[in-house]
Amino acid sequence: MKSLNDFARGKLDHLRDQGTCRVIQTTDRRDGQPFVRNGQELISFCCNDYLGFTHHPTIKKAAKEAIDRYGTGSGASRLITGNHPLLDELEQRLAKLKGTEAACVFSSGYMANIGIIPTFIGPKDIIFADELSHACLRAGAEMSKATFLFFRHNDVDHLKELIATHRSNHENALILTDGVFSMNGDLAPLDLISAIAQENDCWLMTDDAHGIGVLGDGRGSAYCFSPVPEIPLQMGTLSKGIGSMGGYICASKDVIDLIKTRARSLIYTTASPPANIASAIAALDIIEQDKEYRERPMQKARLFTRELNLPAPQSPIVPIIVGDTFKVMHYAEQLEENGFLVSGIRPPTVAKGTARLRFTFSSIHQDEDIIRLAHTVRELGIV
Ligand code: PMP
Repeated sequence: MKSLNDFARGKLDHLRDQGTCRVIQTTDRRDGQPFVRNGQELISFCCNDYLGFTHHPTIKKAAKEAIDRYGTGSGASRLITGNHPLLDELEQRLAKLKGTEAACVFSSGYMANIGIIPTFIGPKDIIFADELSHACLRAGAEMSKATFLFFRHNDVDHLKELIATHRSNHENALILTDGVFSMNGDLAPLDLISAIAQENDCWLMTDDAHGIGVLGDGRGSAYCFSPVPEIPLQMGTLSKGIGSMGGYICASKDVIDLIKTRARSLIYTTASPPANIASAIAALDIIEQDKEYRERPMQKARLFTRELNLPAPQSPIVPIIVGDTFKVMHYAEQLEENGFLVSGIRPPTVAKGTARLRFTFSSIHQDEDIIRLAHTVRELGIV
């Protein structure tokens, strides 16, 4: 038998040969922008902090006040003694934002997805998921032990075909999709998917991690459609536009009550710290009140695509597909040499041959930095 170290070294060598070995870099984000990495100041275009809320003075103040009042940690799971009053307040606020009866907050978006899906779906059931669904939707689906099929990205005809062939052989059925696809930046056709779900006796769950705060008047990607599609399970995260940490699900009261008594990743983990929840509440205040601020990430993304003659963005995420893994990492290094932090995204996060630079835009970006970035992208021959 190989030693554990030999096993790890062998795996790492293989990943390095393929250009897919990841290295975590320390990045100092002291004031939001610029970042400091390896002693160099960089403007980041790869954070999901779309509204710059991780460093917003009002939000930091709310977090500090929550620590003073409720302490640094929650001390236990929500079902024991960890359910501090801020959690109830945030759940009411999220339910109101999404127009549902109730909501449930988890410690992260990943935890939410792996808890929610197995609460409703088991081995006799079937899941139809967009092939680009986020890794944690997939993880939740796999944990449910249901039959699990993928439809081609945003291809509603393929979804209908799969339903026609497989739905009737299973008890319950769930359709899963991201609202905004994190590596593509495009939106799911939630109006069409919702209609298909209703016509075919399927439940629908969306992961709108990248929509809340920035799309649909800050309510998320479903609210870009008119009429607003019926989505019984609206999941999202507090870690991106909201600038904090935590996941949530908005749904009917019965559905939320069941999640609160059955979702293992809620029951068997410590509740989110008060500061995270207080900062999420403060973020919602700003999102609800300041239309100009919440619309800025889309404006900034539009400025970038206009400068480069790229198609208009659907979200603050703009990918430039390069294809080759080594080439994409080389471009990311060159951008870094020019003072821009942009992540190269490689397989297995994206499909083989579709490695890409993923640019994200935030309310706190300066227009002149975006124009400089676009010029650099052009000078380096990336587009
Ligand atoms: N869903 C999507 C679409 C995401 O992009 C992410 C984060 N990368 C998550 C869920 C997980 O959320 P969290 O970071 O809160 O665990």
